[in-house]
Amino acid sequence: MQHSVSIKDLSLSFGSVKVLEHLDLDIRQGEFIVLLGPSGCGKSTLLNCIAGLLDVSDGQIFINGKNVTWEEPKDRGIGMVFQSYALYPQMSVEKNLSFGLRVAGMKKEEIAQRVKRAAEILQIEPLLGRRPANLSGGQRQRVAIGRALVRDVEVFLFDEPLSNLDAKLRSDLRVEIKRLHQRLKNTMIYVTHDQIEALTLADRIAIMKNGVIQQLADPHTIYNKPTNLYVAGFIGSPS
Ligand code: ADP
Ligand code: MG
Repeated sequence: MQHSVSIKDLSLSFGSVKVLEHLDLDIRQGEFIVLLGPSGCGKSTLLNCIAGLLDVSDGQIFINGKNVTWEEPKDRGIGMVFQSYALYPQMSVEKNLSFGLRVAGMKKEEIAQRVKRAAEILQIEPLLGRRPANLSGGQRQRVAIGRALVRDVEVFLFDEPLSNLDAKLRSDLRVEIKRLHQRLKNTMIYVTHDQIEALTLADRIAIMKNGVIQQLADPHTIYNKPTNLYVAGFIGSPS
């Protein structure tokens, strides 16, 4: 079977510090995978390797069967949503959504259509004329998701997209991300240190510690049958 994303024996060091060690991970087409672990365990590093924002020290990354280990980020068919939004402050929401497509030389009508569809799905149509500074945190994060959405990417990468939001917004957007996945049916890799997010969103959860995946299983199994004390402690299963 061809996997959507396949990571083979991936290692990464910063200088002499090993951050990812011989990591393997196969992700099915349309799967929602959550990478869960404490701060510093290597979640963002792994996501950045998949996105092509970091060079790996060793190992390979395949997307839809193609070895992309040394491909440019833009050629990988992925879209990334960061905790910090990373919107262009001087551009309107509409321009933020369309910028990448214009740079890629897409036709105006096609761009307009894609922006309209993304704005509709994320319910940000009334905001298209505004600048990021005039948006709430939740609205900014919708725009950031919209920028990946307009590109029609196969794989969405999320790096703690909700951790800057207050509790109410966080649970609202969590529901929306779930709905988005049900609608698009694409592959999503979602990094968080929040157990609730992991348990409610994931098809499978990968529990990470010191650059190693400790257990990879569906939420029910992780919660009820943790393979070791670390996993049990982290997911907060009753003893
Ligand atoms: P997480 O996202 O799980 O919180 P990271 O992937 O950001 O963890 O970081 C994993 C480890 O790598 C941490 O110990 C961090 O300090 C280190 N690290 C991350 N980025 C760099 C970098 N550019 N240079 C050196 N060390 C880094
Ligand atoms: Mg991180």
